[in-house]
Amino acid sequence: MKYNVNCIIIRPGELFLKGKNKFLFENCLFNNIKDALKEYEATILKSQNRFYVEKFNLSNLNDILNILKKIFGISTISQAYKVSIDVDSIKNVVMNVIPKEGTFRVTTKRAYKKFPMTSMEFSAYLGAEILKKFNQLSVNLFDYDFNLNIDIRENNFAYIFFETIKGAGGLPVGTSGKASLLLSGGIDSPVAGFMIAKRGVQLIAIHFYSFPYTSELALLKVKDLVKKLSEYAKKIDLFIVPFTKIQENIYKKCPDSYMITIMRRFMMRIAEKISKNNNSEAIVTGESLGQVASQTIPSIICTDNATILPVLRPLIAFDKTEIIDIANDINTYDISIRPFQDCCTVFVPQKPAIKPKLDMVKKFENELDIEALVNDAVAMTTIESF
Ligand code: ATP
Ligand code: MG
Repeated sequence: MKYNVNCIIIRPGELFLKGKNKFLFENCLFNNIKDALKEYEATILKSQNRFYVEKFNLSNLNDILNILKKIFGISTISQAYKVSIDVDSIKNVVMNVIPKEGTFRVTTKRAYKKFPMTSMEFSAYLGAEILKKFNQLSVNLFDYDFNLNIDIRENNFAYIFFETIKGAGGLPVGTSGKASLLLSGGIDSPVAGFMIAKRGVQLIAIHFYSFPYTSELALLKVKDLVKKLSEYAKKIDLFIVPFTKIQENIYKKCPDSYMITIMRRFMMRIAEKISKNNNSEAIVTGESLGQVASQTIPSIICTDNATILPVLRPLIAFDKTEIIDIANDINTYDISIRPFQDCCTVFVPQKPAIKPKLDMVKKFENELDIEALVNDAVAMTTIESF
């Protein structure tokens, strides 16, 4: 008889969380796994600090593993053979599924204490049985080709597996509230969104759109980025804010060197309104200190002053190369480098103020009808879900 993998073991991470938090964490992760696999036939079970995916179609195994690898809150994953908990059944499956040559070790973990042998005894017993049957195999506890793991669990099943793959880590999306990602279409902001989602935050995305200065293709790029991010961050609503009128107003009425600072402050005000309407508690940007003229501490002071929401900047201390590495890992890099201008590059001044002063900013902004501009932009915002 040929045995196939019939189970995927999912081990959650950061389980040092206790009490009510642990319960919330596990429930959220369970629902996120269910949701991510909703298009597949599969049963998802929870038992003793673990989750199991079972009754799936074997032809979908790789797809399911790839989806699971992107779910935050999962520490490790193994594809396994689930067997009823008796010595002969375990041995029988092991004999069928182990590679027939090379070096190996057996690692037994016994959570079910009524099993007739200790972990050590069972590993030794199985190892000896394997050697009896297959003369091309030899044991090496430290330098082995494969590790035969036997997990004997309290739920009356044993799980046989050879490999443990690393999961995405972090916390389940939804356990740390909701935040608004300012998503530009550049390299940095998708990475910032990924990092905040990894800490369990659900995202909405806000894009400031400068039609006709930026094209439909630039917008398509933003949508593709949101789609990619939603593989990690569950469903994401994208708010597309028409920004042209605001930019033209600033361009006409304020000094060039303060263009970016004032534009950023409008972004914050609009993001705050959208956030409040959508239960979002913070703003996320892809800024990194010193990367460009507008990303200095005086600039941050001016930006933060425009909103009462906390502004999270997960990339603040990252080098560009470090950001690009993550962008490549999460497959947003190739989308981000598509050559379409974003709204900031269109209106970028020759000499932006590196040290903008808040009192000057406020003086220049007196020329603008801030409330009307903000309200108009929010009113004309469109939403798409991914
Ligand atoms: P990115 O690579 O994310 O575009 P950047 O290095 O180009 O960042 P800036 O253009 O200074 O930096 O933008 C800083 C941050 O402001 C961005 O990371 C993003 O969070 C936000 N932002 C800029 N432009 C837009 C936009 N058109 N829509 C939404 N957010 C934006
Ligand atoms: Mg940019």
